[in-house]
Amino acid sequence: MKAAPSPFRAQPSHKEEFEFVEPQDLCQSFQAQRHVALNQTTRRQDDKGRYVMTKVDVAIVGAGIMGLAHAIHAARAGLSVAVFDRSAEANGASVRNFGMLAVVAQAPGAQLASARRALGLWQEIALQAGISMHRAGCLFLARASQEMQVLEECAALNKDNGHALELLTKSKLPDYADNLNHDALLGGLWSPDAWKVDQRQASSRIADWLRREHGVTFHFNVSVHGVTSGTVETSAGTFRAGHTIMCGGDEFGTLLPDAFRASGVTRCQLQMLRTPVQPEGWRLKPFILGGLSMTRYSLFASCPSLAALKAYQEAYYAEHLKHGIHVIACQEADGSITIGDSHAYGDAADAAPSNEIDRLIMSDLAGMITLPDATIADRWIGRYAHLLGTDALTLAPEQGVCAVTMTNGQGMTHAFAVAEGVIRDLAG
Ligand SMILES: Cc1cc2nc3c(=O)[nH]c(=O)nc-3n(C[C@H](O)[C@H](O)[C@H](O)COP(=O)(O)OP(=O)(O)OC[C@H]3O[C@@H](n4cnc5c(N)ncnc54)[C@H](O)[C@@H]3O)c2cc1C
Repeated sequence: MKAAPSPFRAQPSHKEEFEFVEPQDLCQSFQAQRHVALNQTTRRQDDKGRYVMTKVDVAIVGAGIMGLAHAIHAARAGLSVAVFDRSAEANGASVRNFGMLAVVAQAPGAQLASARRALGLWQEIALQAGISMHRAGCLFLARASQEMQVLEECAALNKDNGHALELLTKSKLPDYADNLNHDALLGGLWSPDAWKVDQRQASSRIADWLRREHGVTFHFNVSVHGVTSGTVETSAGTFRAGHTIMCGGDEFGTLLPDAFRASGVTRCQLQMLRTPVQPEGWRLKPFILGGLSMTRYSLFASCPSLAALKAYQEAYYAEHLKHGIHVIACQEADGSITIGDSHAYGDAADAAPSNEIDRLIMSDLAGMITLPDATIADRWIGRYAHLLGTDALTLAPEQGVCAVTMTNGQGMTHAFAVAEGVIRDLAG
């Protein structure tokens, strides 16, 4: 069967014609396809110089961290992999976040185990792919007695469950970060379990490494507009795949809209800020978080005084709560400080950026720490999928097709572990 010539925008210099092999061997059984040689690409030239499409074991839609995580595990399982992304490079939540591997924020049990497993994989992959990653640690600061009470309970409750928390008195705080607003602070909670990866370089470096070391094929600037068992319809023509995994982040409208709608998943919009490079090499070592994070993170969910803290916040932080603000600050490798964030769900997830949100975030941060340069040099919006009470949503509408979406806002922390499970199930 011959398809019409199709522009292949990723490499526009080639004149291409797609020729499809017959579909009789399509998707017999995923297991049976594991023999496909590593380094097989999705396209090769025949003896007349025409491009011929070959089938891959796994096609992945989306080159964000979830798509890349699936590509890594599939390639490691010996499967041939092609990744499609409509952008010239990953451009979604995966390059718009804090780069926080937030092991500390997880509830003990399955969530914590997933974050720890993913961290181990990050350490391996960052080394091989050349991604900047370091243990920054995480400092929760208390300014109100209700916050201090929650920190004390959290430290007591999480003694022997895999967390490594240390309650800090006010006098200890300067050992952990400079420029803290000491007079306003009552104490803190320290955890070494927060790692900072360079989120702006991670996706592209992982893609380069996968291409180089694992023979994964990347089709950037290619939109996928239809997926059925065995075929992937794209703006560059139809591709064939034994299994297709959709990792489109918060993009639900194009592919499987009905299945996504039925799942109840929605979108969340976050507003983020960045300062200029801080002067004179000033360093902020840990992630800094305050009371507003205590009422958001699973780590604190079982603290008896959480309800009292919520009531306090409703009385004194109504404007912050209205915009779903909790404040995190961390330093990038270049010395700038990334600060966030607000949360707007559902229909509100397409709102314009707001100066009021900037003001609320920066004023709350200023109550905890004085940055040498708190000018806002950059601001952006990021979006992720959200489904209350669910960490990762997997939809499998037909044989050979699935969609895997992080729905807890922590894809950087969990993607490598979630994808490992998906590929293990797939490849047997
Ligand atoms: C502001 C912000 C801060 C965050 N901070 C953290 C943090 O510090 N730590 C943490 O663990 N998590 C954090 N998260 C969550 C984390 O970033 C996300 O869970 C994760 O990046 C989701 O990855 P993804 O690959 O599913 O989606 P994305 O990164 O959004 O990637 C989806 C990709 O799919 C492509 N795509 C979609 N549809 C199609 C199609 N039809 N055809 C072709 N391509 C398509 C898009 O172009 C995009 O590149 C944050 C998120 C945001 C928004």
